[in-house]
Amino acid sequence: VYLKAIEANGFKSFADKVDIKFDSGVTAVVGPNGSGKSNITDAIRWVLGEQSARTIRGVKMEDVIFSGTDTRSEMNAATVKLKLDNQSGMFAVNNDEVIITRKLFRSGDSEYYINNERSKLKEIHELFLDSGLGRNAYNIISQGEVDTLLKARPEERRTLIEEAAGVMKYKLRRKESEKRLTETKDNLNRVNDIIKELE
Ligand code: ATP
Repeated sequence: VYLKAIEANGFKSFADKVDIKFDSGVTAVVGPNGSGKSNITDAIRWVLGEQSARTIRGVKMEDVIFSGTDTRSEMNAATVKLKLDNQSGMFAVNNDEVIITRKLFRSGDSEYYINNERSKLKEIHELFLDSGLGRNAYNIISQGEVDTLLKARPEERRTLIEEAAGVMKYKLRRKESEKRLTETKDNLNRVNDIIKELE
């Protein structure tokens, strides 16, 4: 299990600090409509560096900050922490656990941390680049996408599964290597021609 827990505070409907722990195996989140189930996946996308408010069902980024209810006033900042297991060393940090934090203030200021150290968004992207995880990878399949997946042709479905499994980057590297191989073969042929001419 890579994702160990999510801690959210002031993010969307999570006004109070919530700590959601994930065990090994499958975790199901159940609850009535509008109770905040999708806000959990929004929180994950957000910490992974999502920059589009629309993707996490907002209009502007500030919409992720708890906006208050009849009995509770709005909050000034949203914080989400993602705790990931790193015993396998999948992430390039010297620690058994990676904690990624994103914080956004109503003023628009935003902060990122990797294991409590202030970081840049770019460093978070780099951390996930080779892990098969990340904001653009198919780790999070939303309601509409389930339908797409079921209706997809076998080849299309295979592409989605390969993306989720992190096979894509190997396919890309293979293509690059094949191209280099072809170029090298061409060069070799040319050299052989020149040798023949000289003989
Ligand atoms: P469904 O089963 O209908 O998809 P759900 O359990 O996935 O529902 P969510 O869509 O995650 O529910 O939660 C939506 C709730 O979050 C709404 O009640 C909405 O008012 C609340 N919400 C979203 N953004 C904020 C915010 N910034 N401040 C306070 N509440 C918010």
